[in-house]
Amino acid sequence: MADAANSGNRGARVVLLGPPGAGKGTQGQVLCQHLGVPAISTGDMLREAVAEGTPLGNKVQGIMASGALVDDATMADVVRERLAKPDAGRGYLLDGYPRTLAQAETLAGILRDAAQELDAVLLVDVPEDELVRRALLRGRGDDKEDVIRERLRVYREKTAPLIGYYRERGLLREIDGNRPIEDVTAGMLGLFGVGSEVNHEVAGA
Ligand code: ADP
Repeated sequence: MADAANSGNRGARVVLLGPPGAGKGTQGQVLCQHLGVPAISTGDMLREAVAEGTPLGNKVQGIMASGALVDDATMADVVRERLAKPDAGRGYLLDGYPRTLAQAETLAGILRDAAQELDAVLLVDVPEDELVRRALLRGRGDDKEDVIRERLRVYREKTAPLIGYYRERGLLREIDGNRPIEDVTAGMLGLFGVGSEVNHEVAGA
């Protein structure tokens, strides 16, 4: 993975893939610091829209609360607009997008239009029982057990097919997320050739 290992200098375009609660947000914060690119979380963007009561927020509020996915066309608008901002010019770490094969095709189209490519898709994997346990501990608004189960079901059905999609394209890198946070971080940074400078302050945040 020399391409991703060298990507720190010229930025990088990385997708974080994995089930809800796998720790993508935590790991993403560390990795984007090292890569010098913004972390773009569609979940955070949507939650912000809900909190601000924007038209987008009003549209997605109920969908998010149920554990279902926001429709692909709405997400395409959200992501297109966000990736066009100047801070995404050198790259980005995408967390929560793409979540369906249609979204992966949308992203491929955005990249193609910009004559860009992804550097890597990082799969953070964790067994389902552990995911439910973590989600219940976390206690976010959409983290009731039936909603958690629904989100995991949606992940298996709609998002897990992306693993094969990106593996076929030679982009998939896998990380065992069922370990202490620091170990996951070290493994992940190792993949990107920046293993010697783990920032434990951030990793533990
Ligand atoms: P996670 O806990 O898995 O990190 P997120 O914070 O990424 O969850 O997303 C929370 C909710 O926001 C999802 O359950 C879904 O309703 C909505 N959402 C976020 N990203 C997308 C997307 N790419 N496509 C459709 N819905 C999305």
